[in-house]
Amino acid sequence: MALKAVGALTLSAIRTRFRSSFREYVRGGIKGYLDNFENDVSNLIERWFWEAYVLGFVGAGGRGSPDSSIFWGNVYIDLESASKFAGDIRSGKYSSKGGLKEALDRVDLYVARLQYFFDLGFGLFTLDMRVWEIGGTEHHCEDCLRYQGQVHRYADWVKAGAIPKSHLLGCTGIACDCSLRPTTKPESGVLEGPRGR
Ligand SMILES: [Zn+2]
Repeated sequence: MALKAVGALTLSAIRTRFRSSFREYVRGGIKGYLDNFENDVSNLIERWFWEAYVLGFVGAGGRGSPDSSIFWGNVYIDLESASKFAGDIRSGKYSSKGGLKEALDRVDLYVARLQYFFDLGFGLFTLDMRVWEIGGTEHHCEDCLRYQGQVHRYADWVKAGAIPKSHLLGCTGIACDCSLRPTTKPESGVLEGPRGR
């Protein structure tokens, strides 16, 4: 599928549009309009996550179109989870009192992912060195521990799929508090993709 950037929106404008459309679909879905729900939500995620990704890429000085395989390698997890979300709505999980609010709160997990995709696009075109710093989480996964203190070009981290909060990490990124900080240190460590769980 070919995706094109819609135009020069800010990340916060992307967030607002994505959030309000997603919430509208969820409201409809809970009322029983589910025929196209999964498809609509998937398209919405693809469109706006791509937009955030391109915005990050362009913001870092990238020209043309960023690598789409890196985008798809990350977004598929969100599409899978959106399909589970549709299943939960269909099963009536959100039909009781308070259910709507719970479902709308779940939308915000996807809204938060826009920043991740922006960072991904930004990192892809950023050649300065970054060091992996472990966060304040009590238990770290093997991937984060292996990356701790390693120094590589930001773009190389991204290309390897080694990105803080990524679903691909052993910790699945949910509680990951690690970061890639700018550093003047030279490259160090052997960069491999995350091993996952
Ligand atoms: Zn981590």
